[in-house]
Amino acid sequence: MIDSHAHLAMLEPAVRYEVLARAYGAGVTMILVPATGREDLDAVAEMAGAGEGRIVGALGFHPHEASRCDAAWKRRLEALLESPGIVAVGEIGLDYHYDLSPREDQRRVLAWQLGLARERGLPVVLHHREAWQDFLGALDAAPGMRGVAHSFTEGAAGVEEMGRRGLFIGISGMVTFPKGENIREAVLAVPSGRLLVETDTPYLAPVPHRGKPNEPAYVRLVLEQAARTREADAAALEAETDAAFAELFLGGR
Ligand SMILES: [Zn+2]
Repeated sequence: MIDSHAHLAMLEPAVRYEVLARAYGAGVTMILVPATGREDLDAVAEMAGAGEGRIVGALGFHPHEASRCDAAWKRRLEALLESPGIVAVGEIGLDYHYDLSPREDQRRVLAWQLGLARERGLPVVLHHREAWQDFLGALDAAPGMRGVAHSFTEGAAGVEEMGRRGLFIGISGMVTFPKGENIREAVLAVPSGRLLVETDTPYLAPVPHRGKPNEPAYVRLVLEQAARTREADAAALEAETDAAFAELFLGGR
């Protein structure tokens, strides 16, 4: 069972140690840790290198951090992408809900990072919030990208848009929320072999842990809800989501 999105670099080292022990105890075999920017690029690279094959990393500037991605940091990101255990560029995207970076900076830095991923032959971990049309536009300007639209919230029509662009769909703990109907609708619409499960640790803890810090061990609750929604066997869906992750991020390993 793989947690395809957990911000472990945001946790204090002592907490992270306990969280990892619980994850491995709960049957989590691999965790993808995405970076968000200057604060955690080095930490994620370090964790992926020391993760004994159970932790892999994605490096990039989150849209919140886009305005801080200057020339020097671009060079730093380019260099760190060569680190062991780094399997993707991410997380990158557009977030017009918080608008923590000017939208123009967000679009420019996303386009640059999509180009970087293509140049390196790496998949991308994509974040989008309240920026759907511009998000689709950015993807269409970089055709043929491989990647995942993480913590997806757009429903069945959105799944189809992603599928047309060859992208996978990542489902978080929101699938367990009473108001997560659009997400359960998305889960049903994802074609076989294109679904990933994630926690988005430390955010979005699934029911019954809602409102508390999330952790990778809870990815089982996401998987189980997705299986109920799809009327699928949980063990079969686990194998299917693990294989989808391996196809996208590990070259099929
Ligand atoms: Zn994230």
